[in-house]
Amino acid sequence: MNEEKLYAMRHSLAHVMAAAVQKLWPEAKFGVGPVVENGFYYDIDIPNVTISTDDFSRIEEAMREIIAEKQEFGRTEKLIDEAITCAKEHRQPYKEELLNDLKRSGTTAAKDLDANEMGTITEGEGAVSSVSFYQNGDFIDLCRGPHVHDTSEVGAFKLMRVAGAYWRGNEKNPQMQRLYGVAFATKEDLQQYLMQFEEAKKRDHRKLGQELDLFVLSDLVGSGLPLFTPRGVILRDQLGEFSQEIQSKYGYQKVMIPHMARAELYKVSGHYEKYPEKFTVTSEESDDEFLLKPMSCPHHIQIYASRPRSYKELPIRYMENTQVYRDEKSGELHGLSRVRMITQDDSHCFCTPDQVGEELSHIVEMVRDMYTALNMEYRAILSFRDESDKYLGEKSVWEEAQRALESTVKQHAITYETVPGEAAFYGPKVDFMVRDAIGREWQCATLQLDFLQPQRFKLEYTGDDGEKHPPVMIHKALLGSIERFLSVYIEHTAGKFPIWLAPEQLRLIQVKDSPELDAYVNKIADYATEHKLRVSIDRSHDSVGKKIRQSELMKIPYVVVIGEKELADKVLTPRIRNDLAVSGRGEETYQYENLVRSIANEMKTRAHRSSL
Ligand SMILES: [Zn+2]
Ligand SMILES: [Zn+2]
Repeated sequence: MNEEKLYAMRHSLAHVMAAAVQKLWPEAKFGVGPVVENGFYYDIDIPNVTISTDDFSRIEEAMREIIAEKQEFGRTEKLIDEAITCAKEHRQPYKEELLNDLKRSGTTAAKDLDANEMGTITEGEGAVSSVSFYQNGDFIDLCRGPHVHDTSEVGAFKLMRVAGAYWRGNEKNPQMQRLYGVAFATKEDLQQYLMQFEEAKKRDHRKLGQELDLFVLSDLVGSGLPLFTPRGVILRDQLGEFSQEIQSKYGYQKVMIPHMARAELYKVSGHYEKYPEKFTVTSEESDDEFLLKPMSCPHHIQIYASRPRSYKELPIRYMENTQVYRDEKSGELHGLSRVRMITQDDSHCFCTPDQVGEELSHIVEMVRDMYTALNMEYRAILSFRDESDKYLGEKSVWEEAQRALESTVKQHAITYETVPGEAAFYGPKVDFMVRDAIGREWQCATLQLDFLQPQRFKLEYTGDDGEKHPPVMIHKALLGSIERFLSVYIEHTAGKFPIWLAPEQLRLIQVKDSPELDAYVNKIADYATEHKLRVSIDRSHDSVGKKIRQSELMKIPYVVVIGEKELADKVLTPRIRNDLAVSGRGEETYQYENLVRSIANEMKTRAHRSSL
C-alpha cells in the first residue's frame, strides 16, 4: 500500500465520518478534518450535544451505511463569493470564516491550518479566487482532495476518542469536539494497530513514570518542564554517563557551556532565523538580547575558535550532556517525549577531510555499543547527496564520507537504507531508527556532517602545507534527547530496566524486628553499598506478602526476604525479576557476599540476564 493511497483513504473517511455525524445531528457545524498519524479527525460543533464514546457505535453504523452505498466523491469548483454564500446557506459558520480568510489573503490566517484541508485553488500570496468542494451523498465539504473513487474504498477504521479542541487552537474561540478515528488499508492492519495501541496504553511512560516514581510535572513550574525524582535521576545519569563512557573511548572530551548566549551567536550560526520557538532572556544590565540556547553547536565552535589550530591537534572532539530549550506549543507537549527543556548527549568533532571516514566509522561503532547494551534493535537511514550541484563542500569529501558510512554499517551487519538526495545541502546525515518491544520505531541517535558552520564562523586550521583550511564538523548524539529516549525506553521495557539501569537493584525485606536481624541486614546492605549497588531495606510492619508485592510493583531486579532462618543458615534465596531469570534454574541459595558480587558484576558488564 503506498502512502498516498492510504492518505486518500483516511482523508475520505473524514468526509464519511462527517457525513454520518450530519445524518445523526443535522444541526452539526464542521471545522477542519485533517489526516493525522494512523488516522483522521474532524472538529465538530453540535449545539447542546456532547458526543461521548457511547455514540461511537451508532456513528460507525451510519458510516458503514454510507460506505455500503458506494457514494462517489464528486468535485465542484465555486467562485469564492459563491462559496461563502453557500456556507452561509448551509449554516456552516466555521467554513464561512475559513472562506473569508482565504478570500482576504490566501495565506495569513489560513496558514495555521492544514493546507490539505483547504479548498484553495491558487496557492501562495494573494487572495484566492475560487475553491473546490467535494460531495458524497448529501454531504458537501470545502476540500482540496485527494479522495478514493467512492466510499466503498476507504479501508478498515475505528473511532477511538473524542476530545475538546478550541476552534483553530485558540482558547478565545469556541470549543469544538474533536472526533478521532484510526484507519488502515486492511482489517489485519487495523487489528495489529489496535493490539499495539492497547499494549502501548499499558506501557505509557507517563503512567509508569508516576508508578515507578521517576519524574513529576508541576503546573507551577510549567508544562513541558518535567522534574526528575531521585530514581529518575539515576536513570538519566546512568544513560548520560554511559554515553560519555563510550565516547571517551573514541577520544571525546567533556566541555561545558552556559545555558544562554547572546542572540548574536545564533545570528552568525543561522539558528536565530531557523528556530522560531526560541526563548529570549531580557537583561537589565545590558542592551544585548540573550537566548536560552536552542542548540549547543555554536558554543562548542567558540571553544574550537578560541585559538589557532594545527592539523596536528585534529581531530578535536568535544562532548557534553547539556540542555537546549525550545518553546514548543503547549498542545504538542507530551510527557517526556515532547518537552521544552531537552537534554542532549551532544558532541562535535572537528577534523580534516582525510579524517572524516574514520571518525564516521567510529560513530557507527558507538551507536552499536550503546544500543547493544540497551538491548534494542535499530536500523540506519543514510541520507546522501545526489548529482545536483546544490551541495556545500568538496564532492570528494562527501563521497569519502558516504563510502565510509556505508561500509561501516555493512561491516557491522546493520540494516540500512541509503536515500540519495535526502542530505541537507551542508552534509550527509545518518538517522538511527530504534525499534521498541511493541514494534514502533523511534529516531534516536543521529550523526550529521557539516560544511556550513565552519564556513559561517570562519573556522580554520593550519595544514601540513602551511596553509589555512576549514575543518569539517561532525555533529552526533547517541541517545539524542535523554528525555525523549527515556520516554521510549520506559515503554520499551515497560519499566523493567536492566540491572545496570534499575534505580533500585536490590531490596532487602526484613521479616521482623530484632537486634540480631537488624545487624545482619545492615551488614548485607553495607556490603552491597561498598560494591556500588543501589540497595534498600524494607523494615515496615506490613506482611511479607505485601512487601513482596510492593517490590514487584517497583520492578526491582533482586529481592531477598531475610528472617530468623536466613540469619541462622547464613544463606539467602534471591527472588529474581522474571524477565531476568534464566528459566530452568531452581531456587538457589547464596552467601550474601557471593550474591552481591554477582549482581555487581552484572551491573559492570551491563548483562541482560541474571547470572544467578
Ligand atoms: Zn476531501
Ligand atoms: Zn551540533
